[in-house]
Amino acid sequence: MGVSENIRAFNQSLGDTNCKLIAVSKTKPVELIQEAYNAGQRDFGENKVQELREKPEQLPSDIRWHMIGHLQSNKVKYIAPFIHLIHAVDSLKLLKEINKQAKRNDRVIQCLLQVHIAQEEHKFGFDEEGIKALFASEDFMDLEHISIVGLMGMATNTDDQNQIRSEFKSLKNLFDELKENYDLPNVKMHEISMGMSGDYAIAIEEGSTMIRVGSKIFGSRNYQ
Ligand SMILES: *Cc1c(COP(=O)(O)O)cnc(C)c1O
Repeated sequence: MGVSENIRAFNQSLGDTNCKLIAVSKTKPVELIQEAYNAGQRDFGENKVQELREKPEQLPSDIRWHMIGHLQSNKVKYIAPFIHLIHAVDSLKLLKEINKQAKRNDRVIQCLLQVHIAQEEHKFGFDEEGIKALFASEDFMDLEHISIVGLMGMATNTDDQNQIRSEFKSLKNLFDELKENYDLPNVKMHEISMGMSGDYAIAIEEGSTMIRVGSKIFGSRNYQ
């Protein structure tokens, strides 16, 4: 199947669920993104600032761009004018820089906190205590140009469906607990970004509101 068919099939099967498709277009040319756009897709995910600096100017301006990858503080300035949602915020330092650049652009930037749910050691992200400490800190209260709208997580890369499911469940439980117990002006929990090409079906069952799907839409990636 081609890109258009894939987009239509995904969006049809998501139907009127509460879950939205983020089409992950990293490494893919603008022609394919335009094809997905023509099939109705408006939310696209990239994981490199460099691609976010090059692609948007060649594409329609009503695309909502999502930064889904690890973001370095010194690169926030390049995406701050237009980025719709930053998915993988993993430190107060990064949040402060996003706040600063958002202020400079006279906007509020929506962010998700990345939570470390996988067993793999190398994955970035907060744990539960880290988020609670963040929400309790005065530095965080001062950040008026960011809005934490939810959590993001990546499950372990494994064939063990039960493990993936339990990792997604742990993210959903933490989301529910934070939503229930924190009432802060810069926190409005309504998004859970979880699920990729290999595990989106489980993620949707466990309460995902945003699946980030790349290869199942655009085909496998060629890293050179
Ligand atoms: C690349 C990437 C995806 C999409 O991966 P696929 O397996 O191709 O669907 C999702 N989330 C993040 C953070 C990524 O870097």
